[in-house]
Amino acid sequence: MARIIDGKKIALGIRQGLKTEVEQLTQERGVVPGLAVVLVGANPASQVYVRMKKKACEEVGIASFSHELPVDTTELTLLALVEQLNQDSKVHGILVQLPLPKQISEQKVIEAISPAKDVDGFHPYSSGQLMTGGPGFWPCTPWGVMELLRVEGVDPSGKTAVVIGRSNIVGKPVALMLLAAHATVTICHSRTPDLPKVVRGADIVIAAVGRPRMVKGDWIKEGAIVIDVGTNRLDDGSLCGDVDFDAASKHAAAISPSPGGVGPMTIAMLVKNTVESAKASSAIS
Ligand code: NDP
Repeated sequence: MARIIDGKKIALGIRQGLKTEVEQLTQERGVVPGLAVVLVGANPASQVYVRMKKKACEEVGIASFSHELPVDTTELTLLALVEQLNQDSKVHGILVQLPLPKQISEQKVIEAISPAKDVDGFHPYSSGQLMTGGPGFWPCTPWGVMELLRVEGVDPSGKTAVVIGRSNIVGKPVALMLLAAHATVTICHSRTPDLPKVVRGADIVIAAVGRPRMVKGDWIKEGAIVIDVGTNRLDDGSLCGDVDFDAASKHAAAISPSPGGVGPMTIAMLVKNTVESAKASSAIS
């Protein structure tokens, strides 16, 4: 049976380390890291995510500044708020929870955030830096995937990695990160022919599809490492991943569950990006 990659435990360790860093930063430099969290409308899933992110920040000593706007907020109003937060020296990170209501262009809002405060890592500047290997914020979910691999002692160098999904927030960035870590990477999507065959060739499988238990046990090569990014709500209200966990566990060497794998890591990496931003603003390396 596969080793279970415990994202909850790994994320807790990261947050505990960050708490110590924040204490030092506050004592030595008088800097309290600050995260502005902007929520437009009342999407229940977004409300849950925002609450979890704020709680995680507050637990490590980060100040969180909440901005809850009505669903009919105009693009101009939101852009003006982002600009105000860009100028606010108490704010080191700006998180605008997606999705936004349809009258607002998500791309315009993302591009309005200062790259120096882009702790979600979605700004084209951050994407460009990731692409070219320069310094910048990495998006939190793919970075969380890479941290799971690192902490588990999985070095992607020389291995074959298959990423299922090509979204801008998960599939593409995680593929770039694996490539930078010297894996040979294949990116799959809805038009990939014979997906099971492609996945069977992988030493590392990253599933980021959004389809409950789509990746079957017999797609997994013996001894592969499987990271399940998928978070799918079933009709009975429970959550499951993109991988058939029980079946895949019989073939993988290690596997991350969902929930309890990548989800907690995403939040931990957001906290980390915010602390890094505060450090950079006070010139501590
Ligand atoms: P998107 O819907 O943006 O992308 C899904 C990708 O899966 C697309 O590239 C799509 O291909 C591909 N796909 C869909 N169906 C198939 C199929 N039958 N075979 C192969 N590929 C397929 O999703 P996200 O990247 O935003 O999210 C993916 C999953 O990760 C979701 O379950 C989401 O909830 C979860 N997630 C979890 C996070 C966390 O913190 N734990 C954070 C972000 C996402 P195509 O491009 O051709 O349409």
